[in-house]
Amino acid sequence: MQLHKDFDLRPLNTFGISVKCKYLIEIEEETELPRAVEMATHFGYPFMVLGGGSNMLFTEDYEGSILYMRIPGISAETQGEEVLVTAGAGVVWHDLVQYAVAHGYGGLENLALIPGTVGASPIQNIGAYGVEVQDIFDSLRGYHLEQGFMEFDKKSCHFGYRQSIFKGALKGKFIVTQVRFRLSTQPNLKLHYGALQDALAQRGLVKPSIAEVAEVVSSVRVSKLPDPSSIGNAGSFFKNPEIPEAQFQRLKIDFPEMVGYPAGEGVIKASAAWLIESCGWKGKVIGNTGTYAKHALVLVNHGHATGSDIWALAQSIQRSVQERYGIHLEPEVNIIGRIQLSN
Ligand SMILES: Cc1cc2nc3c(=O)[nH]c(=O)nc-3n(C[C@H](O)[C@H](O)[C@H](O)COP(=O)(O)OP(=O)(O)OC[C@H]3O[C@@H](n4cnc5c(N)ncnc54)[C@H](O)[C@@H]3O)c2cc1C
Repeated sequence: MQLHKDFDLRPLNTFGISVKCKYLIEIEEETELPRAVEMATHFGYPFMVLGGGSNMLFTEDYEGSILYMRIPGISAETQGEEVLVTAGAGVVWHDLVQYAVAHGYGGLENLALIPGTVGASPIQNIGAYGVEVQDIFDSLRGYHLEQGFMEFDKKSCHFGYRQSIFKGALKGKFIVTQVRFRLSTQPNLKLHYGALQDALAQRGLVKPSIAEVAEVVSSVRVSKLPDPSSIGNAGSFFKNPEIPEAQFQRLKIDFPEMVGYPAGEGVIKASAAWLIESCGWKGKVIGNTGTYAKHALVLVNHGHATGSDIWALAQSIQRSVQERYGIHLEPEVNIIGRIQLSN
């Protein structure tokens, strides 16, 4: 366990926002957690957990302690065609994907190149290209602040769209230390997602391998999303709003181009990118902030933005979508600070 005082978090958040925390406590083994939590509490400040900082917007200095999760390690146990792969919370997500691909274990390939750590992956049930973590999740282990170390199976995680119990009832109460995935040596590739199908067809890949799917997903991502090491961002800033089908059909009369997909009985998941783009925000630059020229849903730091600059932009976008369509956009990114949230 390492302790740093007045730590500048700029290298630890993909928006590249320079803010300080009172203490940064690096956790390299799960056995350090009880003591680290005790220390953080003893300092008399609030504390929070940080992985790769790729889903965070710090709007001001964090007047508390940050538990920075660095628990390493990947191991695998084969059970017939199935492989249980267990990884420490601090493992870089894409390193895990590469490990699985290199060993011929299928299941993670559509989730290639998502930034962040393994420990954060179940928190918002990360997803891309037609697959979510819940599809290959087996179980996880972690530290409950009141009940100590415990395990969760898939059912008890209450996964939903960018949602889990760890963002709900257990928010701020549970620290993931390792996650176990159920992969397969006989993968059932999920190739139905439109953009993935198109990219595979362009390359003439009819029966792609796991490695080819991961490679195609990675190259599509690189062509569409800004690299946080050159343009600060946290991926999609808002969730796609789920609205009643009747509301969607009414809106379609005035806005026939509106994009949405069925998301369960009588529910449509509207495209947040379309809503934002149609309000004229795509590629807009406002001071040091803006939306990415190729993807309206990605808010960016053009260099010297503060977290509150970005939050102000996010609120302006929320307001224009609300006024035009009567739809509230809920941030997917975790907003950290005392700023009054309108979400
Ligand atoms: C360019 C870009 C593209 C992206 N694309 C996608 C995408 O396609 N799909 C997608 O779902 N997301 C995407 N994201 C968002 C992000 O990658 C994921 O949310 C990722 O899981 C965040 O991981 P992290 O380690 O950086 O978490 P952080 O940002 O550090 O933390 C996120 C949340 O998880 C909590 N947390 C982190 N680790 C733990 C732990 N061990 N125990 C308990 N709580 C923890 C934090 O307290 C915080 O609330 C993208 C981000 C970027 C920058």
